[in-house]
Amino acid sequence: MHPLFDLTGKQALVTGASKGIGFASAKLLSELGASVILVARNENTLEKARASLPGSRTIVADLGSKAGVDHVLHEAGPVDILISNAGGPKPGTPSQVTEEAWMAGVELTLMGTIRLAQGVLPHMQQQQWGRIIAITSLSVIRPVPNITVSNTLRAGVENYLRTLALEVAAHGITANAVAPGYTLTERLEQLHPNPEDLERIAARIPAKRVGLAEEVASAVAYLASPGAAYVTGQSLLVDGGVCI
Ligand code: NAD
Repeated sequence: MHPLFDLTGKQALVTGASKGIGFASAKLLSELGASVILVARNENTLEKARASLPGSRTIVADLGSKAGVDHVLHEAGPVDILISNAGGPKPGTPSQVTEEAWMAGVELTLMGTIRLAQGVLPHMQQQQWGRIIAITSLSVIRPVPNITVSNTLRAGVENYLRTLALEVAAHGITANAVAPGYTLTERLEQLHPNPEDLERIAARIPAKRVGLAEEVASAVAYLASPGAAYVTGQSLLVDGGVCI
């Protein structure tokens, strides 16, 4: 394998890894040589994912609380590559989002990434190498109607990473986001059960189709690679040219 893409010997922690973009990312990192730790809430789906990735291991945890993230960090041990990902926050219009939905979103989407990043940093600083990547959303460039909590907190996640990037750049650690556009995963199919809805969405994207989880994963793998050492504080949109 070309050394710029070789992840042999690296320990990658991928959260929200039982399906969708998280699983596709874990699979590609594993194929590039990393030892992968998969995190999700459901033991059965997580076990299915593990079985298809030789050499990987799992941690069952809910990232929506400090206790859940602490458990992950404790079980994972030293991490060289962090992929922070989970399900998106509950939808709701700005005037209707409840206090409860806001706080659940803050815990999972914002604090989940911050806690994971802070937890993996000491080892990365010690070895002067690390990759911190969060999966955000195209909503960071343009709000998507009705997903207020996501629109708001993803911007917070990205600005946290940009600020972190400034602090850790001199230590060989990069911090970036991958912002998917409409990507064909179980979640997108659940949100749009009617195939005509997805066709309508595809027609409004310059690429004339929705993306694949594997296409988001390849952006993740690039940013995780040794070859991306000088790319930090960025948000890489994987959206087919968007214009939705
Ligand atoms: P998905 O629902 O297919 O997968 C989400 C994964 O996260 C699953 O493994 C699930 O078990 C895990 N998860 C959810 N909540 C968790 C929690 N509290 N603790 C631990 N694990 C948890 O989602 P996806 O489509 O792969 O999307 C991944 C991320 O990308 C989401 O945050 C989503 O909002 C964002 N995103 C997706 C799209 C899209 O079109 N699919 C577009 C923009 C942004």
